[in-house]
Amino acid sequence: MAATGKAAVFLGPGKGYEIQEFDIPTPEPGGVVIKVSMGGICGSDLHIWRGDSPVFAMMAGNVAGHEMTGRVHSLGSDVKTDSLGRPLKEGDRVAYAYFYPCNRCYQCNRAEFAACPNKLLTMGPSPVSKFSGAYGEYYYLKPGGWIFKIPDEVTDEMATPVNCALSQVTYGLQKAGLRYGDTLVVQGAGGLGLNAIAVAKEMGADAVIAIDGIPSRLQLATRFGADAVIDMNDHPTPMDRITKVKQLTQNRGTDIVAEFVGVPAVVPEGLQMLREGGTYLEIGNISMGRTAEIDPSQLVWGSKRIQGVVMYDPWVIPEALDFLVRTREKYPHGDVVSHKFKLDDINNAFEDSEWAKEGQTTKVNRAVIVT
Ligand SMILES: [Zn+2]
Ligand SMILES: [Zn+2]
Repeated sequence: MAATGKAAVFLGPGKGYEIQEFDIPTPEPGGVVIKVSMGGICGSDLHIWRGDSPVFAMMAGNVAGHEMTGRVHSLGSDVKTDSLGRPLKEGDRVAYAYFYPCNRCYQCNRAEFAACPNKLLTMGPSPVSKFSGAYGEYYYLKPGGWIFKIPDEVTDEMATPVNCALSQVTYGLQKAGLRYGDTLVVQGAGGLGLNAIAVAKEMGADAVIAIDGIPSRLQLATRFGADAVIDMNDHPTPMDRITKVKQLTQNRGTDIVAEFVGVPAVVPEGLQMLREGGTYLEIGNISMGRTAEIDPSQLVWGSKRIQGVVMYDPWVIPEALDFLVRTREKYPHGDVVSHKFKLDDINNAFEDSEWAKEGQTTKVNRAVIVT
């Protein structure tokens, strides 16, 4: 058994990653060491890598990435089962959360784990291990971390987005109150947006409209169940796109608009795509300090609601896994991953995934690091 493993350490915004070796930890009684199989490059990782907010500089020096799947490498002495009480052993394939609600705050007391203000503080390296991110050969799941066995029908490509993209959109659409028969606009058909389309359809959405500017993503959006797509190349201005959404909805707008682009400018646009009384689900804009101008009277006169969501509650992961088993023949879950890179090539993986650079169009839907 190797005593050390490799991981990509974030050097800071705009500086990329450096591969370093760290000791494989011995787990605390409540901890689990996981051998990572695959780590996804999520839109959030691109924000951090670019440095879309000065706050992201504080993540330098840590192993990066949060979207991943792996196998149990070693179990702490107290860990006998997964979070649903099913026996757990070395070698089992697992999905797990990358954040740790504190269980010692007002929100945790109300079982609002996704809103725990302390969950981010617990995400970095622990005294036990530097393996605190997806881009490493190992990940150390700290004591109390939620962990679930993966059904055999779910491949690693399908399982990788479970702990971020799929769980995030499942939780978000429920928080936004999506109901049977609702209409939905998805702004941004990347990893989160594609998952949101399929989840919304399975929740009974009547019509889902996907907006993106990358043709391969729009094709996937249709395969994931989108009833209509709006190509930003054909509809270059916000007003073009708002008009198109209105045309598709008897001039009403949709019940819900979900934001997965991560650019503040799309928020005022999306608010105008909502019907009166509709809900705007805000998930993509994680970069603190970047702003957009909105007209608050639109919310008042339109009786519109904005629901922000980051992370999720624990029940979402097993529901997301069941969803994948149930719909594996219906949607091309495994096809979201378009490019695979070795850990040593992580800097190329990020360069190739970049879509926000002038003059660069990415062909990447979702890149993963295979370890
Ligand atoms: Zn993510
Ligand atoms: Zn808490």
